[in-house]
Amino acid sequence: MFRMVKSLMWIGSHVSIAKGFCAAVEASVAMGANTFQFFTRNPRGGNAKALDLADIAKGRAIMAKKGFGPLVAHAPYTYNLCSVKPEVVSFTMTHLEEDFSRLRVMGVDRVVLHPGMHGGQGTETGIRLISEKLNRLLPLAEEAGVKILLEGMAGAGSEVGSRFEELAAIIQGCGTHPCLGVCIDSCHMTGAGYDLRHWSAVQEAIEAVIGWDKVGALHLNDTLHGLGSRKDRHARLGEGYLGYEGIMEMLEDIKDQPLPVILETPNTEAGYAMEIQWVLSNIDHKVQEEG
Ligand SMILES: [Zn+2]
Repeated sequence: MFRMVKSLMWIGSHVSIAKGFCAAVEASVAMGANTFQFFTRNPRGGNAKALDLADIAKGRAIMAKKGFGPLVAHAPYTYNLCSVKPEVVSFTMTHLEEDFSRLRVMGVDRVVLHPGMHGGQGTETGIRLISEKLNRLLPLAEEAGVKILLEGMAGAGSEVGSRFEELAAIIQGCGTHPCLGVCIDSCHMTGAGYDLRHWSAVQEAIEAVIGWDKVGALHLNDTLHGLGSRKDRHARLGEGYLGYEGIMEMLEDIKDQPLPVILETPNTEAGYAMEIQWVLSNIDHKVQEEG
């Protein structure tokens, strides 16, 4: 005898915390989410607002009641650990350090970071510079109980980290530090040339090159551009190159992993709610009935 059960997948969307932490939790609950992602500060990288401890405590209480999974923080786009400009690198270092302590206070244990743009120095140099800087940051992340998740990129411009091998090389350059992992993005992987319609091959490549134990979050997006386009333009689920069928095999595969799945589709809260409902209703699975 089999019966259908709801998967316990952690799924949510990117939300703004401009109105506070608790408001972001409430917005996520309203859209049927049990996790969310937020920018550690303005995505263009300015000063961070002072943390409101009472607001955070209120939000965390709701999260506990609703059975939320781990939240995902995202670093600003202006951060670049391998910039040709030294002031950009030091800006990134000091702001990331501050982000770690803020995340500790918020009880958030992972932050997604774009590896960097080498700006003409070449991928190999970029990888070396990123590892160098991460080696200084990782002890601080560890102290704060935060894991840095290097995001796999589409490969636009001089982006480092579009190939799994590049992410693995950065990780190796940091001695496979326990606080360093990756975030995979279905739009970026497609842009980088990984065909999610043949998921098992991509799944095996991730395992062989990076290791699934290093994957700390999944960004779930469709993509406006096709396989190997090296372009990073997110589309709503089912409205891009991948289509619903292009992500189903991946979702079936990852649904039982303790992995926050974050939508970054161009959407309203109502649109996110529909996407979350679509995902959850399509990954229901069979379990053997007891007795
Ligand atoms: Zn990102």
